[in-house]
Amino acid sequence: MPFDQLGLAPSLLEAVAAAGYSEPTPIQAKAIPAVLDGQDVLAAAQTGTGKTAAFTLPLLHKLGDRQEKKPRVLVLAPTRELAAQVNESVRTYGKSGAIRSTVIFGGVGYQPQIAQFKKGVDIVVATPGRLLDLLQEGHADLSNIQTLVLDEADRMLDMGFIHDIKRVLKYVPEKRQTLLFSATFSKDIRKLASSLLHKPVEIDV
Ligand code: AMP
Repeated sequence: MPFDQLGLAPSLLEAVAAAGYSEPTPIQAKAIPAVLDGQDVLAAAQTGTGKTAAFTLPLLHKLGDRQEKKPRVLVLAPTRELAAQVNESVRTYGKSGAIRSTVIFGGVGYQPQIAQFKKGVDIVVATPGRLLDLLQEGHADLSNIQTLVLDEADRMLDMGFIHDIKRVLKYVPEKRQTLLFSATFSKDIRKLASSLLHKPVEIDV
């Protein structure tokens, strides 16, 4: 199926063409319509399958080109490298629009991150620990999150982030769309998925 039949806005189709993608990868073909439709998604996906565009493209579409003060999309990722990579994808695909994204991770100063929230941001890509610090200090407001993405959820569990994730989720509205991506499906991932997802579309590519 070609990209232009997935229901994405013309500006996103242009970004996809500019990136040199001729057709959606299997996970994109399945996930993009489900995400646009507002459904929860549980996807088995390794790195290299095009999973990042599978969620960033439809989420950018849904955000439109309207900025808001409080973030509407939260992506949790296990490492600063992955978080930075997801943020880069958002910027690449969202180039033509007004959507602002920021990346939050530990090991660097707090002030620039606090300033980003103060200024207003639409998409937050974060590792759980630093985001939790910012929330507990009152610097981040996640009360307007509409979609939560857990990227490489198996790695987040392996790295011991489950408690931080649960604490972060206390600040996120329960009524939201949730997408969970994981390379493997252990018992713990299944448990997490069943506690967070509502009637998810299951994708295994
Ligand atoms: P990911 O699995 O998200 O880490 O993406 C792996 C690589 O595939 C990235 O370098 C993307 O730029 C690239 N990519 C994503 N979607 C497509 C596509 N539809 N066609 C060709 N390459 C793609």
